[in-house]
Amino acid sequence: MVKLVLVLGDQLTPTLASLRAADKANDRVVMAEVTSEASYVPHHPKKIALVFACMRKFAQQLRDDGWTVDYTRLDDPDNAGSIPGELLRRASDSGASSVIATRPGEWRLIEALEDTPLDLDILEDDRFVASHADFNAWADGRKQLRMEYFYREMRRKTGLLMEDDEPTGGKWNFDQDNRKPAKPDLFMPSPLNFEPDETVQEVLDLVEATFPDNFGELRHFGFATDATEAEAVLDNFIETALPQFGDYQDAMLSGHRFLYHALISAYLNIGLLDPLDVCRRVEKAWQKGHAPLNSAEGFIRQIIGWREFVRGIYFHEGPDYANRNWLEHDRALPGLYWGQKTGMTCLSKTVEQTNEEAYAHHIQRLMVTGNFALLAGIDPAQVHEWYLSVYFDAFEWVEAPNTVGMSQFADGGLVASKPYVSSGSYIDRMSDYCSECSYSVKEKTGKDACPFNLLYWHFLSRHRSRFSDNPRMAMMYRTWDKMESDRQDEILTGAEDFLSRMDAGDPV
Ligand SMILES: Cc1cc2nc3c(=O)[nH]c(=O)nc-3n(C[C@H](O)[C@H](O)[C@H](O)COP(=O)(O)OP(=O)(O)OC[C@H]3O[C@@H](n4cnc5c(N)ncnc54)[C@H](O)[C@@H]3O)c2cc1C
Ligand code: SF4
Repeated sequence: MVKLVLVLGDQLTPTLASLRAADKANDRVVMAEVTSEASYVPHHPKKIALVFACMRKFAQQLRDDGWTVDYTRLDDPDNAGSIPGELLRRASDSGASSVIATRPGEWRLIEALEDTPLDLDILEDDRFVASHADFNAWADGRKQLRMEYFYREMRRKTGLLMEDDEPTGGKWNFDQDNRKPAKPDLFMPSPLNFEPDETVQEVLDLVEATFPDNFGELRHFGFATDATEAEAVLDNFIETALPQFGDYQDAMLSGHRFLYHALISAYLNIGLLDPLDVCRRVEKAWQKGHAPLNSAEGFIRQIIGWREFVRGIYFHEGPDYANRNWLEHDRALPGLYWGQKTGMTCLSKTVEQTNEEAYAHHIQRLMVTGNFALLAGIDPAQVHEWYLSVYFDAFEWVEAPNTVGMSQFADGGLVASKPYVSSGSYIDRMSDYCSECSYSVKEKTGKDACPFNLLYWHFLSRHRSRFSDNPRMAMMYRTWDKMESDRQDEILTGAEDFLSRMDAGDPV
């Protein structure tokens, strides 16, 4: 009996669980570009194009490998518009009554598949270091889930940077070496860019015609769109940027959007690169003396630490995770996130870069756009939708814990032990944005004061009952308490005034 084998747009791996379980000679692979997936949030056009182009090339790769692939393009007249709809249509066409699927990375789609009236076998997605069982065994019974301890388990499990049972270099984490600001005159590597071939060009035309109003520039499009190109991006990163990745991973520069980052998150998330293989190659670069330990360890931690940890949290916490709002924030996301002009250079530069590249690096996401949203009390569901829409690597299993948990503290401290908030001084230390800003980072009050300076204290003051007994925040409250009450009032009034102007849509 013929079976359908579902391959989703972020499951483009030849060794995917559902492909391994299928019979190439008999079964039919189903792949579909559908409106429901392309528009349930207003995705950046570059992200839609990336996924569709990679899907089309992967489908061809499967055909070349002997598979029968039923591929539906977005503009095919018979397109049913959703994944369940496409499965039902293909089942009726082929006479198949059962489907083998690999578990999607989003509860919304898992539930939609489970509701599809077909005999469905959903297999675990095993393209990760930790299985759900591994994560749950580690998490269950712990009072607090901290990435650092989970990461050590992953180091032991993989043997990466381990000498017998001990971490290489005598420490698990070299982060204190990794917080250097960068100077614009440092040598900056260039990420690889690929000229669109015929397949990519066709997808770009389709996306341009179908999603003309979505936030984000579609062209120039230079992403990798198959595994060979993604490998080349990784090789280029290891060769030219890895050695300084550690030192400058938190730095931000207006003129250098990518610094020493790898730009591989989308390729990992779509399935073009394998996380463990990436880490082994980085470890090898360190073994050969090409990169220092702080870079190799810092990079490997992002992948087998943070990436695996946030995935574990997403599935451990269940479908309501993305709706959490522990701080009860309810302000609407202001227009500046969609490109409305602002005098705050850190925000305008990060949003401009997001618009043009569908990319911002971690510290821009966490300490600029995320920090501002948290300080201003923006509804985390709207912040979550924004991040899910605008980045080329945004898939809910990885985006939601980073946004709702790490960045917005909306899960009440499950992912982060304290809120990632800062005044303007952090941004000033780690970037060159403040020198070009309409506001002054040195001013703490008054109309020229950096809004981050005002909002920082406003945040701490309005959430005092929630945070005053958090030992990691005691110092901040002591500093606030030492201020004259007139100064405190001036700060809080300045913050309220700023927020009212922003809510009214006035330029800020
Ligand atoms: C609010 C917010 C939202 C985010 N949303 C996403 C998202 O939708 N998709 C996504 O892949 N990452 C997300 N991240 C994590 C991180 O910002 C990106 O993975 C990283 O910027 C991708 O760029 P890069 O490949 O150049 O990464 P590098 O800085 O070169 O890091 C190497 C790799 O480590 C992994 N990594 C690093 N940090 C994290 C992290 N916190 N969580 C998971 N993996 C990590 C990525 O796979 C990345 O490719 C988010 C972070 C924040 C603060
Ligand atoms: S002064 Fe404040 S608003 Fe301006 S760039 Fe610096 S941190 Fe951002």
